[in-house]
Amino acid sequence: MSTTSPQSPHHVLETLDLRVDGQRLWEALMTLAKIGATPKGGNCRLALTEEDRAGRELVTGWLEAAGLTLRVDQIGNIFARRAGRNNALPPIATGSHIDTQPTGGKFDGCYGVLAGLEVMRVLQERGIETEAPLEVVIWTNEEGSRFVPVMMGSGVHAGLIPLEKALAATDRDGDSVAASLERTGYAGDVPVGSHEFGAYFEAHIEQGPVLEQEAITIGAVTGSLGLHWFDVVVSGQEAHAGPTPMPYRRDALKTACALVSDILTLADDYQPNGRVTCGEFNVHPNSRNVIPGQVRFSVDLRHLEPPVLAEMHARLKALCLKHHAANQSDKQRVEVELIEVQHIPPTPFAPALIEMVRSASRHLGLSFRDMETGAGHDAVQIAGINPVAMIFVPCEDGISHNESENAEPEDLEDGANVLLLAMLERAGVVANPQEAAQ
Ligand SMILES: [Zn+2]
Repeated sequence: MSTTSPQSPHHVLETLDLRVDGQRLWEALMTLAKIGATPKGGNCRLALTEEDRAGRELVTGWLEAAGLTLRVDQIGNIFARRAGRNNALPPIATGSHIDTQPTGGKFDGCYGVLAGLEVMRVLQERGIETEAPLEVVIWTNEEGSRFVPVMMGSGVHAGLIPLEKALAATDRDGDSVAASLERTGYAGDVPVGSHEFGAYFEAHIEQGPVLEQEAITIGAVTGSLGLHWFDVVVSGQEAHAGPTPMPYRRDALKTACALVSDILTLADDYQPNGRVTCGEFNVHPNSRNVIPGQVRFSVDLRHLEPPVLAEMHARLKALCLKHHAANQSDKQRVEVELIEVQHIPPTPFAPALIEMVRSASRHLGLSFRDMETGAGHDAVQIAGINPVAMIFVPCEDGISHNESENAEPEDLEDGANVLLLAMLERAGVVANPQEAAQ
């Protein structure tokens, strides 16, 4: 190696025509998908099951063959490191998760991990050395399907979930995270949260319809929407459906329906980033010939900007009050109560890293746009402690958490190339590309 000054990754790309191998990436995805394959073409690799263990063995074997060194922390997060020239620098990391929903797809999470693997394979092949070390991370139990809370491994790493609480979580059969880590051989000894990242990039399928609808290849994710969860309880009085004339009913469902149709217009003034969803309903007593005495339903509000989310909350309160006050004659009295369930503030990502995603896309001639993530990701947890950016690629019909989840090989390849360039730009490239090519 004769050149010691870091070079622009775009220069390396021009000199070496450095690109990931899209075919190899696709084959890795399809090979991993054979473990826990479901009849409809999806995947079932619940966190820390035998299938998840087998998936981890497969992928860590690939990572080691690409020259990376493995470490496992106390919650089973796997950190695969590729040494840099200056190993005192914090690593430039990427990754995601390989556990799935019970009827999950082949790409959610797996793409982020295997895109990271593909970047490492290309760098190894081409003899590219980076200034900072690089890391590929497999986070434990992102999906939260077998064990709650979700995004467990990254949450513990980021200090958001206490290790003891995570280890004590049990599945429906009473099996704990601690026991499952022991059984699968992933009860590591590296203390959780023991190292920082210089940056963390996560590639992921969009899990929504925007990129596909707009025929855009890359989403440069600027942050995650904040969410505010509520329960609304509408209380009237049960009565017989036959003998009770309409003017004498305290029908909780009648009020709930009017209220819900008002609530569902609540995001209209805050487009494109406002979201409102009423996804869960409980009608009591839920009987054909009884006037509903109580309706309990959920409200999920989301927006990227805290003041707007607060305004949506204020409007929700006002709507509940309006429908509460509208029914105060004794004969028809129905009460409305708003209960706060959970509040997660919006999480902005790191502007400098977002710009690296944009500039890599620009350099590769790919169409791109800024967007927010409405779903939770490991990256959102890490954003609280280290600089983070995400790279979204389109997924078919915006469908995920579904066996039919699908993505185009070309889009996955393009996203991995953006990841490659962004990581190189952030880590700094040392090796002389012409020498390395010979
Ligand atoms: Zn995911």
